[in-house]
Parts: sequence; structure tokens; C-alpha cells
Amino acid sequence: MRPSLRALALVPIAALAIAAPASANGDRPSPGAPSAGDPLFPGLGNGGYDVQHYTLDLVYGSTAPAQTVPALVTIDAEATQSLSRFNLDFRGDAVGFVTVDGRPASFAVQGEELVVTPRNAIKNHRDFTVRVGYTSGPRDIAPEDQGDLNKVLAIAWFSTPSGSITAAQPNAAHRIFPNNDVPSDLASYTFHAITPAGSTFVANGELTGKATVAGRTFWSYEERDPMATELVQLAFGALTVKDRGSDRGVRLRDVAPTSQIAELEPALAAEVGHLDYMTDKVGRYPFRTYGTFSSDATFPFALETQTISLYPSFLFLPPFTPPVYEPIMVHELAHMWFGDSVTPARWSDVWLNEGHATWYEWSYGNDKFGINFEDRIHAAYSQGDAWRAQYGPVAAPSHGADDIAQMFSPNIYDGGATVLFALRQVIGDPAFQQLERRWVQRYGGGPASTANFIALANEVSHRNLTGFLTAWLYGTRTPPMPGHPDWTVNPVAAAAKLRPPALLRR
Ligand SMILES: [Zn+2]
Repeated sequence: MRPSLRALALVPIAALAIAAPASANGDRPSPGAPSAGDPLFPGLGNGGYDVQHYTLDLVYGSTAPAQTVPALVTIDAEATQSLSRFNLDFRGDAVGFVTVDGRPASFAVQGEELVVTPRNAIKNHRDFTVRVGYTSGPRDIAPEDQGDLNKVLAIAWFSTPSGSITAAQPNAAHRIFPNNDVPSDLASYTFHAITPAGSTFVANGELTGKATVAGRTFWSYEERDPMATELVQLAFGALTVKDRGSDRGVRLRDVAPTSQIAELEPALAAEVGHLDYMTDKVGRYPFRTYGTFSSDATFPFALETQTISLYPSFLFLPPFTPPVYEPIMVHELAHMWFGDSVTPARWSDVWLNEGHATWYEWSYGNDKFGINFEDRIHAAYSQGDAWRAQYGPVAAPSHGADDIAQMFSPNIYDGGATVLFALRQVIGDPAFQQLERRWVQRYGGGPASTANFIALANEVSHRNLTGFLTAWLYGTRTPPMPGHPDWTVNPVAAAAKLRPPALLRR
């Protein structure tokens, strides 16, 4: 018997309805994913919601650099599916309670996941508020671990001689507070802290309140612009905040240990010129505040914590001189546009942070101190094959959560700048400058991917550069450098020994 057309049409639709996973049904609550799906950091991030705002309330009970900090995080989020439960990332000390929309929720800590089951399911597109009472806090780094980047970055919130600081890039912000720990979920922040009177607390953004009552000082900061979790800065201790007024509409303030502020001042004052330099290159600074945080701890990196870049103080003191530290200051400032305002969609896109920051670091070194830019590109180019063999292609690093020091390799920094140079060789400087400005204008305040960058390069140059850039970014061999047929790439075995020493990861 011949089935009717109507019956034929109905069968596949009915089958689809049965086969569809619950999460595809907008009304049926299901668990949010326990991962955001970043291949380099499969444990990070979560699915089912988008964070809008974090409020942190911290209590520093004493002046001790290492201490347990009782804290409360309030997370305002929007559901992106109907949720029966959802995860936060957390690797602090302990969780005391969790509420969802003011009602106690059940929770379980499973490894680095905090699994929250609200009393009532959360409907798709609904705003909801999660509160978590927890403890975490700055810890001492063992002296033998202070030079080990992986160990320092895993601690993320650590003591210094004068107090404590945070450095969470790339995967350790959830050591500090429960959150959705991926750079693709940006949010605004409010920071409240209670400290002993006489101590100073500094966070990203602007100071909005300070009052001392009965031996305790209450601090409030607002970071109104979107920020990724990895860029949080919470600094505490015997610190002095130096107000430098405004430049180009940007409030400038620096922070340093009170014992060091005078000797650091000549170095820190250089940042006004750096802001002018970067603004002329790529356009308006993306935030309201900027400044330098110089710490008296000895650690092997500088870090672009949003609006307040972090450095070890030794960098600004003899024997180091302005040609050493000023380009590094420009590197961190450049990250405010490249990495902080425009965040990497996935961690394999981190060359977009470091390649651009290295580009402006070397440009400034050339323009201010006569350190030849093209010589540095040429040197990096010659090591391209060795770096690709050792660390993976520029936009496909072979290490992530397993070895962060290897992930942030010279191929991401110098190799990333070399890709930008090859691109500029092809499209010319006017189009390259237009691309840089349009990139930060279009994607500022959110994540962007390597594919987005290739598409914008095509759009700005009115050419199809997809094949060219794909070879440079994803190839295992270094392509010929346009305009420099004499440049050669060292053989892998020989070049591997030539890795240049870096003063700091930056
Ligand atoms: Zn950097």
C-alpha cells in the first residue's frame, strides 16, 4: 500500500522530536555544560549562562601577606538555556553556602567545578543571581618555586614583602573566586574590601569609596568596562597610590610599595608618553583608568591586569635602564587594546594578544631607543621552523593547561609579530594601520578569533589573504617572507639551540 504524502512528511519530524537532546528544547531544563570547550583548557568555563556582573566582597582580617580571606561573590548572569543545574569554576579553599535568586541552593565541589542545583529550574533567557560564600586567599610561594612560572601562576594569589597581589592568566582566576573562567565571557565588576586601617586595597577600575571606621577601612572599586576573569587584580598591603592626573581623558594612577615609591617614580612617570604613543598608533584608549602596579616580589613576568599592569619592581631599578623596561611597559599598555578589550575567543588565539603587544613593544624600542625593529623580526623569522616544531604553529600552540610556560612560547610573541610583519609587507603600512584600528573598534569589549582577524584583513585590504595567512598561522613550516627573498630559516636542529633569553614573560 502506498503511504500518503502527509504520513511521509510526519514521520521524520516525529523522529527528530524524539531524538533531540533536552538542551535543544528551550523549555525543558537540563544541566549546563561543565566546560566551555576550549581544547587547550578543557576544564575551564561552563555552558548554559552568560555572566553580566561580578561583585566581590573580601575581608582582609590582618596585615599578614599570606592569610585566609573570607569572601562573598555575587554573580549576575543570564541563562542561555533552561537550567536544571549549572557549574562554576572554583579552586579556592572552601565553599560555605550558595544561593540562587536569594534561596539556598544545593551544591557540590567536584575537583575544580562547583556544581550548583537551584531549588527551581532557571528558564532560558532569564536573569538570575548566584551568591557564593567561600574562602580563599594569598599564599606564600616557596623560595625554590619563585622562578618556576607554572608554579607561580598556579598559585595566582600570592604574598609579597609588602602584601599580596593576583596574577591569574591564563587559567587560575577560579583559584581566587568562583566564576566562569574563560576570556570569552566578559563582565563588569564591583570590588568591596575591608582591611585593617593603614593598609591599602587596590583593584581594577576606579576607586568609588573609602571610609575608615573603628580601625577598619572599607574600600569600593568599579570596573564598568567588560573584563575577563583572568585580568582581575586584587592588591593589598603597605601600598601607596600615586595619582598622576589625566592624560587624553584617561585617569592615571600608579601603585607601588610605600617603601619603594620614591625610587620607582622616574620609571613610572614614563607611562604618560607611552599612552600618547599607543593612542596615536591605534586610537582611543579603551578604558577609563590606567596605571602601573610595581610589586616588591620577585617573579619572572609582567602581566596586563586590566587598567593596572603588574610588574616586579626590580625591572625598574638598576642595573635595568629605560631601553629595557620602557618597551615592556608599552607591551603591557598595548595589551589594554589587544588582549583586554579584545579578548581571545579561545586560548589558541593568544598570539593575537602577544603578537600585537610584541609589535608595539618593538616599534617603541625602535622609535624611542633605536633598537632596530626589522632586525628583531629577521632574527625571529630565522627561528620560525624550530619554534613551530617545538611549540606548534603560531595559532595552534601544542601546549595549554599541561604546560603554560611552554604555551606562552617565543613563537606566540616574536613569531606572532613576524606574522603581522609578513602581512604588512603584503598590504602596506596604511592598510595595516587601518586594520589595527578597525580590529579594536569592531571587537573591543568582547572576544574575537583568528578567523575574525583573517576576515578583517581581507576586508580592509580588499584582497583574499586567507591562504596566505593560514600558511603563516597554521603551517608547520615558515613561509617565504614577502619583500625579503634573502631571508632564510635556520634548520630545526640548529635553530633550536638559538632560543633568545627573555628577561620576563610579558
Ligand atoms: Zn604580553
